[in-house]
Amino acid sequence: MESRWNAPAAAALGAELGEALGGLVYASRLLGQDPSLVLHGGGNTSVKTSIVDITGDEVPVLYVKGSGGDLATIGPEGFSPLRLERTRRLGELAAMTDTEMVNELRCALLDASAPNPSVEAILHASLPFPAVLHTHADALLALTDTADDESHLRACYSDRVVLIPYVMPGFPLARECARRFPAEATERTEGMVLRQHGLFTFGPTMEVAYERMIRLVSEAEAYVAARATGGTRPAARTLGPVDPLVLAELRAAISAAASAPMIVTRHADAAVAGFVARADLAERACGPITPDHVIRTKRLPLVGRDVGAYVDAYHGEFAAQAGRSAASLTELDPAPRVVLDAELGMLCAGRRPADAAIVADLYHHTMAVVDAAESLGGFVPLPADELFDVEYWELEQAKLARAGAPPPLAGQVALVTGAASGIGASCAAALAAQGAAIVGLDVAPAVSRWDGPAGVGVVADARDAGAVARAIGFGIERFGGIDMVIASAGVFGPTMAIAELDDDTWRQVQSINTDAVLSLLRLTHPFLQCSPAGGRVVLIGSKNVPAPGAGAAAYSASKAALTQLGRVAALEWAADGIRVNTVHPDGVFDTALWTDDVLAARAARYGMTVAEYRRRNLLGLEITSADVGSVVLALCSPAFRAVTGAQVPIDGGNDRVI
Ligand SMILES: [Zn+2]
Repeated sequence: MESRWNAPAAAALGAELGEALGGLVYASRLLGQDPSLVLHGGGNTSVKTSIVDITGDEVPVLYVKGSGGDLATIGPEGFSPLRLERTRRLGELAAMTDTEMVNELRCALLDASAPNPSVEAILHASLPFPAVLHTHADALLALTDTADDESHLRACYSDRVVLIPYVMPGFPLARECARRFPAEATERTEGMVLRQHGLFTFGPTMEVAYERMIRLVSEAEAYVAARATGGTRPAARTLGPVDPLVLAELRAAISAAASAPMIVTRHADAAVAGFVARADLAERACGPITPDHVIRTKRLPLVGRDVGAYVDAYHGEFAAQAGRSAASLTELDPAPRVVLDAELGMLCAGRRPADAAIVADLYHHTMAVVDAAESLGGFVPLPADELFDVEYWELEQAKLARAGAPPPLAGQVALVTGAASGIGASCAAALAAQGAAIVGLDVAPAVSRWDGPAGVGVVADARDAGAVARAIGFGIERFGGIDMVIASAGVFGPTMAIAELDDDTWRQVQSINTDAVLSLLRLTHPFLQCSPAGGRVVLIGSKNVPAPGAGAAAYSASKAALTQLGRVAALEWAADGIRVNTVHPDGVFDTALWTDDVLAARAARYGMTVAEYRRRNLLGLEITSADVGSVVLALCSPAFRAVTGAQVPIDGGNDRVI
């Protein structure tokens, strides 16, 4: 591990924020940006300095990371300024409840708007150094998550670290460190190892504390590398494709256990493939490498596919563990967050795509540490009761609550055709804004606009069933299922009187507007059946269904056929809990179909200005693709849970339709 300290960069932040706070922000980001040191809100940092308060008094202050903040991106506002002496003295108390600790720390703040201080704030205050850094470095965890960790740590570090036995984080850990550290530290001390938890380093300056962190972690890396047995892992292989329906059914079971739709992402990389190929997978698939991962991963992965057995075991463990607590605990959802299976690889579950991605990061590091610990005698997880106490610790759960309540469509997945632009893009945007993950399909490369943590854009011709099936499979690997299908891809075709309308033009329009939708419905039906929220389909019809236009025979007939297809689907699929509705937009001019020239020509034909033509409906409204997106979103929402087979005009009122 290389030091990334850059003195001019640190000095620049120091000039901007003051030397102490600037150095703290700089060092925190360096640590946070290295996933082998900390992951997703893990670790914490502090600096001791002084400020001049409003009365002109100089007050010693501890800037410590706010609880749940992310070191990778933290700024000065992410730190809580605490009265140093008051905070340090709290560590001398014999006991304190969590409620008392949170209250005392808030009362010790020098800024009422600051975030709640880290649960390790008192520990930071008790260490007698200006700069203090704490990580959960993989290499250190590989040494300490072993049966014989004390001898490994002594062999690696000699007497340059103080060893603290595992103690529940928060006040008990702070009190233990406040008692042990002064008794055991010498002038040779560079760090403090929290066994089965992580590493502290400190020093007179941030640079010294940071360089010590890098040095101690590098030494752990070298220690592990020198003892790597090699050859204990099966040769790396890659996992092949799997039946997407197997994944969707597993996601349905996980969602049922969680009592909410879940995103389930498949990982089949070489690291996963090597890990799940082990004959002893069931024994090796074990608990978190550091305690705070448990709120994301739960204590154990599900090995295999029996979600019911996992849920039963979770209930049993809760019943057994909750009895130890004086407080009455509410059981968290019993759904697994990590699934390991020899064929499927690793599946990671979360309410949002970001949650599932965090689980995946944590467990990738878990697998690496478990493997590394093998050459040091084998990985030893924390005891189940210690992990239960952290999983059910309200101050840990509060970190998850910082993300806020999930949006209404969190955990759900919408497949939208024609998603690159116009009505399709607006429908996808409306659903995404409510938390749905998007699988966008379009022939246009601009569908890549949906590529990101919560979406994927696939270039595919809706008429090519093979390409659509591959896109569905791709979406299932990323998100686990399909809950909503919005069929928006369509063409108007050339305006032609029937006397001139040739068979090819007719068939071309039908193939996109009708045939491709039949194929889409057939392909997605098994997945919609598995939807934990009930499958929903919205077809984009047209005003031309109830009120066709001269010169638009192919278009009007194709949308009429589409509408009948949707009505029959509503009849056939109601028993599967799938709702199928159709919208009939008209005069949506902010789509690619309506160029300025086309619009001017049409307006002229009706003897109107373009502005008048745009509002040519009973309500006098200019209708946009966003209006269509809003109605489609509503049809997919629980407000319409009792509505299927409906046709909703989105036309501003049309006397031929009404
Ligand atoms: Zn920690």
